Amino acid sequence: MIIVVKKESDESQLNSLVNWIKGLGLEVNVSRGENSVILGIVGDTSLVDADLIGSVGIVEKISRIQEPYKAANRKFHPEDTVINVGGNLIGGKNFQFIAGPCSVESEEQIIAVAKAVKAAGAAVLRGGAFKPRTSPYAFQGLRDAGIKLLLEAKKETGMPVITEIMSVEHLDLFEDVDVIQVGARNMQNFELLRELGRLRKPIFLKRGLANTVEEWLMSAEYIMSGGNTEVILCERGIRTFEPYTRNTLDLSAVPLVKEKTHLPVFVDPSHASGLSRLVSPLSLAAVGAGADGLIIEVHNDPERALCDGAQSIRPEKFAELVQKVDYMLPLVGKIRG
Ligand code: PEP
Ligand code: MN
Repeated sequence: MIIVVKKESDESQLNSLVNWIKGLGLEVNVSRGENSVILGIVGDTSLVDADLIGSVGIVEKISRIQEPYKAANRKFHPEDTVINVGGNLIGGKNFQFIAGPCSVESEEQIIAVAKAVKAAGAAVLRGGAFKPRTSPYAFQGLRDAGIKLLLEAKKETGMPVITEIMSVEHLDLFEDVDVIQVGARNMQNFELLRELGRLRKPIFLKRGLANTVEEWLMSAEYIMSGGNTEVILCERGIRTFEPYTRNTLDLSAVPLVKEKTHLPVFVDPSHASGLSRLVSPLSLAAVGAGADGLIIEVHNDPERALCDGAQSIRPEKFAELVQKVDYMLPLVGKIRG
């Protein structure tokens, strides 16, 4: 952390600032130039309130050199994190598909889609039971019954499953769920993140609709600081001024986040675009950007889907997409794990 002190400040003001910072357990290197004094702060500055220091009258400018996240930071953990989900490796050189309907709707639906996406090459089955809908009048998911049906599909196909949690109160229902999803709307539900940090189960953390990369990584940090290091990040599009797509896929976040952290990064082209015809091209672009996997909404009857039909692709399209991705993987040095 670097602090530039105003030219006109006197020695006693400077000394009290330096002593305050030293009192926080940090080292302070003072460099005196012709026009300003610069303080170099050395030590663990993750607990320092930079805004508070910046508000001190004699401080001209303050900037962080070190990122505020530690457990998620690649600087302190250079190797890629690889997570085992029911025998499927996620992260490192491995590329994986998670696929399934937006919501679990019935036993026939989830089992039919599970079989189809498994045959096409998906490693993990998705299916929402608790749905975060904008309207309270829209289909809210089958809730407990939805999780039971998803677990039926797991038994029937042997596929590990992922589903979204919306409240800590439902945690007991997730016992046999392999990966717990934190949806975009709950990315900064810090109490929920903290509870998930106490588990020893992979957490799929979607980026919030209007969150920066740093805020997203700080949310991963909430989970990891509790000891649960198995976090998978997912870029799912962010809010911009563009109305033709549901969100705007921020693909630059993929290589950027992979540089900053060691965690696997997935892309969700379904929620990013809201349009089934954009799912395949965005998926290929995500592979090119270095994603570790894709989460795709697949439905056997999108026209009659209870949620997100417009962005859901049919199983045949999903199978075609898997083939195209497989052609690309050698170019980005990945294998389908
Ligand atoms: C979902 O995956 O079904 C979902 C609701 O996603 P998001 O949180 O990204 O909107
Ligand atoms: Mn959806």
